[in-house]
Amino acid sequence: MLVAVLTTEPLGRALDYRAPPGGCFVGAFVEVPLGPRRVMGVVWGPGEGGFDPAKIRPVGRVLDAAPMGDAMRAFLMRAADYTLTPMPAMLRLATRAPGLADPPGPRRVYRRGRGEPDRMTDARARVMDVLDEYGGAAFNLGELAALAGVSTSVVKGLVKQGAVAEEDAPRDLPYPRLDPGLPGKALAEDQAAAAERLRAAVASARYGTTLLKGVTGSGKTEVYLEAVAECLRQGRQALVLLPEIALTAEFLSRVEDRFGARPGEWHSGVTQTERRRLWRMAGEGGVGLVVGARSALFLPFRDLGLIVVDEEHDTSYKQEDGALYNARDMAVLRASLCDAQVVLASATPCLETWVNAEAGKYARIDLTSRFGTAELPEMRAIDMRAEKLETNRWISPTLAAAVRARIEGGEQALLFLNRRGYAPVTICRACGHQIGCDHCDARMVEHRFLKRLVCHQCGETKPMPETCPSCGAAGRLAPVGPGVERLAEEVAERFPDARVAVLSSDLFASARALKEKIAEIAGGGADIIIGTQLVAKGHNFPLLTLVGVIDADLGLQGSDLRAAERTFQLMRQVSGRAGRSERPGVALLQTCQPEHPVIRAILSGEEEAFWRAEAAERQAAGMPPFGRLAGIVLSSPDVQGVFDFGNELARRDAPLRRIGAQVFGPAPAPIARVRGRHRVRLLVKAAKGVALQPALADWVGQLRPPANLRVSIDIDPQSFW
Ligand code: ADP
Ligand code: ZN
Repeated sequence: MLVAVLTTEPLGRALDYRAPPGGCFVGAFVEVPLGPRRVMGVVWGPGEGGFDPAKIRPVGRVLDAAPMGDAMRAFLMRAADYTLTPMPAMLRLATRAPGLADPPGPRRVYRRGRGEPDRMTDARARVMDVLDEYGGAAFNLGELAALAGVSTSVVKGLVKQGAVAEEDAPRDLPYPRLDPGLPGKALAEDQAAAAERLRAAVASARYGTTLLKGVTGSGKTEVYLEAVAECLRQGRQALVLLPEIALTAEFLSRVEDRFGARPGEWHSGVTQTERRRLWRMAGEGGVGLVVGARSALFLPFRDLGLIVVDEEHDTSYKQEDGALYNARDMAVLRASLCDAQVVLASATPCLETWVNAEAGKYARIDLTSRFGTAELPEMRAIDMRAEKLETNRWISPTLAAAVRARIEGGEQALLFLNRRGYAPVTICRACGHQIGCDHCDARMVEHRFLKRLVCHQCGETKPMPETCPSCGAAGRLAPVGPGVERLAEEVAERFPDARVAVLSSDLFASARALKEKIAEIAGGGADIIIGTQLVAKGHNFPLLTLVGVIDADLGLQGSDLRAAERTFQLMRQVSGRAGRSERPGVALLQTCQPEHPVIRAILSGEEEAFWRAEAAERQAAGMPPFGRLAGIVLSSPDVQGVFDFGNELARRDAPLRRIGAQVFGPAPAPIARVRGRHRVRLLVKAAKGVALQPALADWVGQLRPPANLRVSIDIDPQSFW
């Protein structure tokens, strides 16, 4: 008996193998020989046959994991077709569990022991730090040593002294059961009605998507937890996707309050031992609720009944390298294949979702007021043309006065600036040269905290030069414009007695350190918070009553299709951080164009009008979601080669013309060089409802790219860099 096995190796198709004695299930995880190696794969169906039987090799062994279900296999194939991702790469996403091929039986794990090291060395201290940081989690030996940056013998030494405990862990254990029968919070009337509709949808055990649109602080989380409760009552599994790891801590404790136990966690901050356990338990049904990052969508759930995408508008749901997928759209696809419900929760949904709800493809539930006595913040513009500002100052007198009033009242103020580092540009005052990255077509950003210049494209850093690299003048290099670090300097000068916290992703060594800082701020550990877009996401700071946006115009520059939508979402989100408990909040937006339609829409809060206008504009231009786009990025170290290839593709556009699609370009990408590779973009525009992907595949398939040239196809692109 022959079986076709799909592996994660980049081959064009599944390969035939002889089934193991006694046969195996379709979907079984197996180990098969491939050349001299053994690789992991999944039995995808009966073998094709037609090969010399003598050359067909047998399946090595069937792994100890629940077979992949039909719905999961269908999902991977549909997702591959949609995103034009090869199946092996899709399967890699679905098998990102360390030690999957390990034989069953106990494994050795390491945790914090009762003893203390007799003598503390640097290396030992690092191991103890890692153990503390992950709070009681178990590691395997190699992982613990790698995280601490020490050799395994250091860990072994600590085992001898009892500071690290070495245990034989039993087979991966199921997660504690969540109890949906525990009483939830008493819901307000509109919350209860919303919860009831979601409960009924989940109870139908059919596919459906609901937009849960509620202003910040309206209790969306409380409401969708009731949908989770219903899903658990049905004996099915639920998945909640969050855009940011730093948000999980608060969510985990809310789940524990509601259901009496913690859910499974899936993101980059989870140990490998825990990831392996969760992956298996998802497949065996040993976990009821998973909270995770976008990649949790590819866990092998045995019976998934509900997917919640919280902050569904968040751009981090789009995976921007490797397999380019949007977790929000893939959640809808996956749910439709396994009779599950999707809840898309947001205060500022993306236009696509808004349009789908208008068209009746998604149900829509609105929560229009904040829970309890909390009021939505009042929003006002500060017209920067009328404010007197000294050079290299960014906080207007009006905003400064408002900040001062908050501090005196024992409340918190947030100053929002979406720019990491000290200054976005470093210029030579003698010759005008701006310091750029050697590998990218991008300016380097000064980070004083790191004492280096950093390229935000490739991560390359270098020390600040003493002299201008272009004209050699000494002592003439000067920062231009503010980043959060420079803003912090201004704040320290103007509010010397205030406690200041800067929240920017690059200032924290680990996700855990960031989580702790956020908890500290929420508890009142700062008077002024300075933050990048990190702070716009869902955090709850009860004492925060003032949000000051340093530059509301920042996102409106440039020609990005989504500039207006993004600015609207970001400004509304960040303003929503203010006044979440008893005391009312105010949001002040510093702008040089208070009459700009987007700024006006943000201030007036007339959201439906904004979405309608935005939708009408996109419709008139045939742009998404009313038309379809695909972005093609070609990159190569060879600048001529990449343009030649792009021109050749553009010339051979017959497969695209057949479906009425147009191709634009090639043109240099806005960031024309990254890590030494030259980047060229083409854009394909098609009507909604045509079969775009097969046409794209035919089109690109006509030409074989040279070895050093990479072609990446981005369906429904979100960014155009
Ligand atoms: P959203 O997700 O819409 O921003 P949350 O669900 O986080 O809103 O709710 C905002 C705050 O109000 C949270 O602290 C939450 O615990 C509280 N809250 C919301 N609804 C209720 C309720 N029915 N009873 C008690 N507290 C609630
Ligand atoms: Zn660079």
